[in-house]
Amino acid sequence: MLSEWIELSLEETWPESRSGRVRGGTYTPHAPGVLELTPSECRETARACVLSVGIHGNETAPIELIGQCLARVEAGLLPLGAPVLILLGNLEAIRRAERYVDTNLNRLFRHDLGESGMEPDRARLLMRAVDDFFARHPEHERLHYDLHTAIRDSRYPRFVVDPFAETVTRPEQWRWLAQAGIQAVLHQHQHSWTFSHYSKHYHQAQAFTLELGRVAPFGHNDLAPLAPMARLLEALLEGREPRGGDPARMAFFRVSHEIRRHSPDFRLCFADDTPNFSEFPPGTRLAEDGEAGDVIVEETPLSVVFPNAKVELGARAALLACPVPPPE
Ligand SMILES: [Zn+2]
Repeated sequence: MLSEWIELSLEETWPESRSGRVRGGTYTPHAPGVLELTPSECRETARACVLSVGIHGNETAPIELIGQCLARVEAGLLPLGAPVLILLGNLEAIRRAERYVDTNLNRLFRHDLGESGMEPDRARLLMRAVDDFFARHPEHERLHYDLHTAIRDSRYPRFVVDPFAETVTRPEQWRWLAQAGIQAVLHQHQHSWTFSHYSKHYHQAQAFTLELGRVAPFGHNDLAPLAPMARLLEALLEGREPRGGDPARMAFFRVSHEIRRHSPDFRLCFADDTPNFSEFPPGTRLAEDGEAGDVIVEETPLSVVFPNAKVELGARAALLACPVPPPE
């Protein structure tokens, strides 16, 4: 039953109140696409874990990865040892295999959100689910991995975005991520109202947005490169201390600027299929905007991440990053 939760949630045929037992604990649905796994006994090393997928509806590899984990829990191969909240983000967008329906869900995670509509309502439900979950498990360190795939190629196919917030990232996070096959880390330079930022900013969680390769439809994902990430998620479900690797294996970057689209007359001056983390030398013109003018690389080379010229007016069209040393 548990292994069918994703499919049935998408079909809206999961019986609202259907909870059940698995090895080491129970599972309880709280709302469509919101499932809590509760161990009968937590291990000492357990974290209170939020694992979210499908915040962008066409990013299917993480949904398949979580599906595999749930199947292993149901088969008794992963005895539960930590409280885990599993979230399917934008249900309607997942059904349509689109990034979003009306607006990008991953910019709406803030307490004073005033917008109305399907995505804002979904953001409010997901924020409440996270608030309630962390309130139920005050004794554990909080962790949130928001799993995505990118819409373009990348010099580093698997990387994490480290949201900007006061909470300090613990050193073991870098070791776990290195061991899980993450190749690069991008530190954010300012608040950005994403889901992982929400948990870090409002709940002091260890939180990241994980980009796990390239967008592909269901059934067309190569999950083999994500096997080390699956091991990390399994350790978290079991409440075991995950294995660590050398963080120096990863490349670290910090965002130095961002390009915003201010006018309808806006374009990025590099090829549409430019991979994430492509580096541009001083003097390169990166963008032209009818209102804001040109963006030109000054004295330090800049790497472009998440370029997207087709964003809504006022939204971010690209991040510009510089290399930084690994954390101590
Ligand atoms: Zn995404």
